[in-house]
Amino acid sequence: MKTIDFLNFSGKKALIRVDFNVPLDDKYSITDDNRIQGAMPTIEKILKDGGAVILISHLGRPKGGSEEKFSLKHLVDYLSLQLNRPIQFADDCIGKDAISKAKNLKNGEVLLLENLRFYKEEEKGDQAFAEKLAGLGDVYVNDAFGTAHRAHASTSVIAQFFPEAKYFGYLMAGELKNAEKILNHAQKPFTAIMGGAKVSDKIELIEKLLNKVDNLIIGGGMAYTFAKAQGGKIGKSLVEEDKLDLAKSLIEKAAKKNVKLILPVDSIIADAFSNDAKTEVSPNKSIKDSWMGLDIGPESIKAFTDVIADSKTILWNGPMGVFEMETFEKGTKAVAEAVVKATKNGAFSLIGGGDSAAAVAKFGFNDDVSYVSTGGGALLEYMEGKELPGVKAIND
Ligand code: AMP
Repeated sequence: MKTIDFLNFSGKKALIRVDFNVPLDDKYSITDDNRIQGAMPTIEKILKDGGAVILISHLGRPKGGSEEKFSLKHLVDYLSLQLNRPIQFADDCIGKDAISKAKNLKNGEVLLLENLRFYKEEEKGDQAFAEKLAGLGDVYVNDAFGTAHRAHASTSVIAQFFPEAKYFGYLMAGELKNAEKILNHAQKPFTAIMGGAKVSDKIELIEKLLNKVDNLIIGGGMAYTFAKAQGGKIGKSLVEEDKLDLAKSLIEKAAKKNVKLILPVDSIIADAFSNDAKTEVSPNKSIKDSWMGLDIGPESIKAFTDVIADSKTILWNGPMGVFEMETFEKGTKAVAEAVVKATKNGAFSLIGGGDSAAAVAKFGFNDDVSYVSTGGGALLEYMEGKELPGVKAIND
């Protein structure tokens, strides 16, 4: 893998595609800096070599024009503290100001460019836009794993302008190495824990995992589609009616492949989707008519955590309930604690990005699991066996 270790960056201007798409509060303070921290070793190596750094990223989903709340200028003070030097900022990612600031950038200096997605051309993968960006640096580094599944101008198209000078950053390399470890070198027993809102988002991964895992735990909103498929009454719980047959066939496939499929037997049900709702413990297959399951119940917690405790490899993607509300966080927290404990006992644990990463961060366990991925969709697609455009562009 062609990582930045292949080059001494002294005297080079490195254009680094990072994923600084971090959550900001209403005062524009960063509330979770995992993705920025992930890119720090790459930036530091290049500066230490004696190179200059031009950072390019997107933030949020602007509608195709400049929007104050999605400006990357909100990250300048934070980055300056982290990198211990002033950060220059260009309020347009292409154009005269960016060109002149990039041109005058000296070794050891850092320039951050404004949000790439203020141009529609970014997501369209526009060649001319990619070429303009490419003109700003001598070397292209991709360290944006969270966006590697997108064939955008800055993540994929741009690489063709650096045929001999394109590299993976350390975050990208680390993400790929850890995903690979799970896919091809998992020690047994291997347990996958799947949760979150929808089965439909994760079908392909679940099917792929059935060939690899010993145990498949399914919790969260998606478990009710399985309960209904088995003839259960699920009240107003989340369900994907068009996926009932699929759920049945996944249950059959798991049995055929000798995979132990562990579904919740009970739930915390609520009379409303609210932190203050009335709650009860209910068997999963006989939920009261107008109530909904918003977390796994105590028996499910026990069954899930027992399996996790005996695992040597753990992949976790998706929360066990609506963990954002305190009333429904217990199941997700108990699973997180069990993963932490198994990790302490020698298991390798990989936490998929997105909401499972948010949950692990919420409970303060970031340093107690083996690896927290910065990619939600990107990790899922990589594990499904798809070639990520951001990875392909560097490998080609
Ligand atoms: P996903 O993006 O598919 O991983 O889904 C994550 C979201 O699923 C989180 O915001 C959770 O609040 C939500 N979720 C988890 N369990 C449930 C449930 N039982 N009912 C409704 N939403 C849920």
